Amino acid sequence: AKSDHRRQFRSYEPVMLANHTALKQLDHDLEKGLKEGQFTLHYQPKIDLQTGLVVSVEALLRWHHPDRGNVPPDMFIPRAEANGTIIEIGDYVLREACRQAQHWREHGHPTLTMAVNLSTVQVYQADLLERVKQALTQSGLPAEALELELTESGLMQDMDTAVSVLRQLVELGISLSVDDFGTGYSSLAYLRRFPVDALKLDKRFVQDLEAGAGEEAETVAEAVLAMARSLSLICVAEGVETPAQAAWLKERGCQQAQGYLYGRPLPPEQCEKLLGPQAGS
Ligand code: C2E
Ligand code: CA
Ligand code: CA
Ligand code: CA
Repeated sequence: AKSDHRRQFRSYEPVMLANHTALKQLDHDLEKGLKEGQFTLHYQPKIDLQTGLVVSVEALLRWHHPDRGNVPPDMFIPRAEANGTIIEIGDYVLREACRQAQHWREHGHPTLTMAVNLSTVQVYQADLLERVKQALTQSGLPAEALELELTESGLMQDMDTAVSVLRQLVELGISLSVDDFGTGYSSLAYLRRFPVDALKLDKRFVQDLEAGAGEEAETVAEAVLAMARSLSLICVAEGVETPAQAAWLKERGCQQAQGYLYGRPLPPEQCEKLLGPQAGS
């Protein structure tokens, strides 16, 4: 019980995040984590539901704090957004994900694409385009192999600015997905304005898709699929954990899926095994 108590005290509990001293500690730890290379990336495959093949991987940020252990992104990204460190952290993610993608493309997976999550703070940061271009140039990754995931709520914050940022990214050749789709308020009319290629159906709806358990989830999923179809966008379902969920989605025309059923987010060496046979072997 003693060690439990200590572990609780040392981790970032939500109650601590409401506490000024704890927040200052977290701010300090984030800066230090950046400097000391405590951040890494895991990768999770995206599967083509028709072929069952991996078409892409998504980079997911991991933070291993030397004392606090693994801190989940939901626990520190909001604070990193509030104190601005997300800009440097996001820059690391972009550069490292592009480097890894290009490495895989040059080592047997020539058509692999990489998806990177962009914080809303990055979307509205004046030098985003420069940073993205730099990550591409430094890694040699073609823009066509990079996909950026932006949240629905982020795009709605300042639509005119978001549209103009997105247009510039698309002009480079990058493709764009709307993440956590279904949780917000985007109507078809709004969505039309954004030059995006894919909608990611949020996992909270996917999880309830089975065995009539979630009428509401089915309604949302069907609406998102219909919206994607009418705008000629790809629909990607996240959080697919069971064959029944996958079958439900596939029957209704969902093109891609991601989730524990196919593979958890993994360190690069382990994710590589999921990428399928090497070309030419
Ligand atoms: P997200 O972009 O919606 O990512 C999907 C989350 O669902 C990930 O959580 C992933 O590990 C988890 N997941 C994947 N498959 C399944 C499944 O089958 N079942 C369940 N229950 N969960 C699944 P994670 O890695 O903890 O990331 C949480 C969120 O943190 C992400 O949600 C994203 O919003 C944010 N995030 C992660 N990495 C980055 C990053 O590099 N930059 C930014 N700005 N945000 C990031
Ligand atoms: Ca995502
Ligand atoms: Ca795409
Ligand atoms: Ca999500």
